[in-house]
Amino acid sequence: MKQISYVMVKPYFANSKVIIDEIKRRLQLSGMKIMDESYIRYDKKRASMHYSEHIGKSFYPELEDYLTSDKAYGMIVAGENAIQVIRELMGQTKNPKEGTVRYDIPKALGIAMRITENVVHSSDSEESAKKEIGIFLQLKKEYSNQQTNNTAKTNKTKTSGSNFNKCDDDFVL
Ligand code: AMP
Repeated sequence: MKQISYVMVKPYFANSKVIIDEIKRRLQLSGMKIMDESYIRYDKKRASMHYSEHIGKSFYPELEDYLTSDKAYGMIVAGENAIQVIRELMGQTKNPKEGTVRYDIPKALGIAMRITENVVHSSDSEESAKKEIGIFLQLKKEYSNQQTNNTAKTNKTKTSGSNFNKCDDDFVL
């Protein structure tokens, strides 16, 4: 059965292109197709929507702090039995097995394996995937707008800087 899932490289790990590429390589090797991908940044509202089933649990505040701490990298992934295939690739939350992303990446980096601050998220059902992808698409748009604004600000600074230099030169001449 062809399914769509949502995969998210979590903050800290999403700062490394090598880690993102390694996760993409493993997905593709398993026959999965990446349909869309983007850096994103979760705020508290969208973190609580994404992890709504965990609100009220003892680890939720830590989970929300982690998810909102930095940019993440989201992917919409399609393939045969995508939900189960991807969850097996990523490994379980507690005591992931060797050969899974949640085991291999911390091991390769020489860092401790953590339950809450783990490497990656993947949808546990088609229903969750639908909800998580909706949030991803909102965040993707916002991230892109933010990048455009930042570029515009940088260009404005550069332009005003060069005008100043030009003025300065004119004055000297
Ligand atoms: P799950 O929906 O099972 O993928 O869990 C979502 C995330 O919540 C996991 O990736 C962990 O970051 C965190 N988490 C889940 N269960 C626990 C737990 N028992 N203790 C601490 N963090 C957890």
